[in-house]
Amino acid sequence: MSNQPSNKKVTLVLFHNDLRVADNATLLKAAALSSNGRLLLVYASSLTDRLKNKDSHTYHYDSLSHARKQFLFESLADLNASLMQLGNRLLYLPNSSATSDSFTQLSELIEQQYVTDICVSKTADYNQNQVYELLQKQYPQISWHVQTTATLFDELPLEHLPKSFTQFRKKIESNHDLLHAEKDSVICLTPKSLSPLPESMFNREGYFFKIDRSDTQVLNEHIQQQPNFKGGESSGLKHLKGYFDSDAPSTYKTTRNVLDDWTHSTKFSAWLANGSLSVNMVLNRLRRYERDIMANDSTYWIWFELLWREYFYWYAAAHQQKLFWLKGIAQHSPSTQFNQKRLAQWKHGQTPYSIVNACMHQLKSTGYMSNRGRQLVASCLVHELGLDWRYGATYFEQHLIDYDVASNWGNWQYLAGVGADPRGCRQFNLNKQTEQYDPNGEFIRKWQGEV
Ligand SMILES: Cc1cc2nc3c(=O)[nH]c(=O)nc-3n(C[C@H](O)[C@H](O)[C@H](O)COP(=O)(O)OP(=O)(O)OC[C@H]3O[C@@H](n4cnc5c(N)ncnc54)[C@H](O)[C@@H]3O)c2cc1C
Repeated sequence: MSNQPSNKKVTLVLFHNDLRVADNATLLKAAALSSNGRLLLVYASSLTDRLKNKDSHTYHYDSLSHARKQFLFESLADLNASLMQLGNRLLYLPNSSATSDSFTQLSELIEQQYVTDICVSKTADYNQNQVYELLQKQYPQISWHVQTTATLFDELPLEHLPKSFTQFRKKIESNHDLLHAEKDSVICLTPKSLSPLPESMFNREGYFFKIDRSDTQVLNEHIQQQPNFKGGESSGLKHLKGYFDSDAPSTYKTTRNVLDDWTHSTKFSAWLANGSLSVNMVLNRLRRYERDIMANDSTYWIWFELLWREYFYWYAAAHQQKLFWLKGIAQHSPSTQFNQKRLAQWKHGQTPYSIVNACMHQLKSTGYMSNRGRQLVASCLVHELGLDWRYGATYFEQHLIDYDVASNWGNWQYLAGVGADPRGCRQFNLNKQTEQYDPNGEFIRKWQGEV
């Protein structure tokens, strides 16, 4: 059944890295555009699969890990609940082989509903941007509205992206306005209500987001996920409050390298990655803590790490598909190769390095690994096992609940010596690292990493 064209606007929001209601400029824009019309709020799963075998990166996995899927479904369920409170609901386009792929379903929806405007959040994801370009070519009559929701800065606040993080940080920190920008006024803005769906959608239940049987199966499987990692804006905001109501921020710098403890680093990454938490809200909360409780090296270091995230975002935006190249942004290819057996040993935690095995078991069970752990297993893959770094990055993409295209591929390039590291090579001494970070072997025992 198709909607009759009318002179009213039909606005479509395509959610991607912005799964929240608060401080979401894309949703606000859509609410304003559709105030006199109709609104479609869509999440399309694996939209970029359409680009397979074209110029997307060819490293591939069959499906997301259970932990990643669970976190995503929880995030979508929470978003749907919030949108329903505002008078609309989430439409979900699965990428199922039984029906048509999500790109085809999205195209059908656009045509059947005579969409006039599409709202999306800016992303550094090269493949996602390719999909947007494809849609723009297919529907030149539609107006596109792109808002910034994922980063601290709306645009890169410098003329060029510096080659190293240190130069980037120094430039930002020398600009008082950038350093102290607080966006309280923006953050308060949450739409009070949303225009309804077009009437012809009311009986199209197939599109409504709900957790169906196969998803429930995922949720019921006994994933040893960290109990606190629950997807969704509500849990993200609760965690944000809990973290800054505790003493943890004041000791962050001394504890952040611990391999396995909930409070020793912020654990904001998973909510930040899919946008269920706004990075501006995190920064404002940090600044408030510094004003009202204390400001020290540790609170500075939280800012420092958020700036790393920001750097990799602009790095991915600048280098586009080079993010996935073996030689990265460097001029040389590393002398690594593909070896199925060694790759399987790394993935399954069966290398000659107990600390690496423990970290890999932790990742598989929980969907999370500490930053220190990620550095060690990446160094092992590249320098000890001599493998092509992109297989490691792809495995992380499949498993990390905080997977973010820019942070993941940017960090892997850095560690493989083909990215933004001025030193060019980061090989960790795994024995020394084990002595330093797991002196009593507790972590290795807990995650059964013994060789
Ligand atoms: C090989 C490798 C792959 C990685 N892949 C990802 C990824 O896919 N998604 C992701 O969010 N992070 C990634 N990181 C960065 C980092 O490991 C995680 O952000 C961090 O461990 C998440 O835990 P946390 O939230 O407690 O971090 P905290 O130590 O509390 O840091 C606070 C926030 O700063 C940001 N941050 C911290 N370190 C980095 C960093 N090195 N690069 C970019 N942002 C950072 C994150 O948003 C994080 O939530 C990767 C690091 C490595 C070495």
